[in-house]
Amino acid sequence: MKLFCKKNIAYTVIFSLAALVFVLLCFPKSGETFEFLNRFFILVFGSVSAFIPFSVMTLLICLIPLFLAFVVWRFIVNKRRYSLKRFFLRGGAVLCVIFVLFGLILGLGYRRESIYAKMDLPDFEVADGDVVVAADFLIDTLNDAALKVEFSDESRALVLPDGYDEQKIASLVYEAFDKQNFDFLYGFDFRYKKTFSGLLEVLGFDGVVFPLTAEINIDGNVSGGNICVLLAHELLHVNGVLNEGEANFLSQYICIFSGDPVLSYCGAYSAVMSALDYLYITDYKLYYDTLQNISDPYLRMRFDYYVRLNANTQPSFFTKVANFFYDIYLKLNFMSGAEVYSENVFGWARFASNI
Ligand SMILES: [Zn+2]
Repeated sequence: MKLFCKKNIAYTVIFSLAALVFVLLCFPKSGETFEFLNRFFILVFGSVSAFIPFSVMTLLICLIPLFLAFVVWRFIVNKRRYSLKRFFLRGGAVLCVIFVLFGLILGLGYRRESIYAKMDLPDFEVADGDVVVAADFLIDTLNDAALKVEFSDESRALVLPDGYDEQKIASLVYEAFDKQNFDFLYGFDFRYKKTFSGLLEVLGFDGVVFPLTAEINIDGNVSGGNICVLLAHELLHVNGVLNEGEANFLSQYICIFSGDPVLSYCGAYSAVMSALDYLYITDYKLYYDTLQNISDPYLRMRFDYYVRLNANTQPSFFTKVANFFYDIYLKLNFMSGAEVYSENVFGWARFASNI
């Protein structure tokens, strides 16, 4: 009789759903077959959270310590009423709900086919020489765009031309998305939220799609031109592109081909940085020769400085801990681990071989 009480039915539904999502995610191409599920959940959660004017993720993060304190308090105060079994059953149910949302909002996106195939880019084993061809194309784009924008000498941030505030940049990114109109993207243009300054940065992120709300969150410290590629990257995640390397490639691509000089500069800057970071580590001579193609000597010096800095910077303790878990998460999702971000250079190599 107890088996059919309301609570047990709720537990049965939650655990069965989690098991079903787990099975779904075991199939490498399930993201294509069940694309409608992924699209539906992102639509529902993304629309609701975009309607809320503040970052729901920030609120939830702030509430976690309070929630944990509440659980501990309940467990200690009511220890006679709550058996250990009941406690773990509840905890397990909460974890299963989180897993189901993770799986349906993000997980299925990892099980989709490569965007390179969908963009009809040639498929081949990329060699260092192919990355050089890509870097040359990107540097040409950067050289052209650099003539049209100003940049600051003390940081990676752009000094934006008149009229290019953050709002303008963001609306240009949304426009660039509409303009490209790739049929493999879902067509969502949810607005982004800012978190407290440094909330994400401390973990080594600039932005994130929060898996429980499909909400785009960008660190409060990110400003000006740095928002271009980042916002495009996060927008791609809510549009079904979860592979980090592919999202990096396509966000740079969308900015470069936006038709706006500032966005184009930002996209090319980010893509050239990835290509040079890659060459610096794989073949120093190729790196050095490619770097010389940047026509502005000051810009060339800046790239050289940041590439060396990127290669030699040790992440902070918090970033290392976050990276450790993130690396495991990516590997569980069939990604090659945290290095998947830099695989965008393979996308550029495939693109450049086609032009
Ligand atoms: Zn990402």
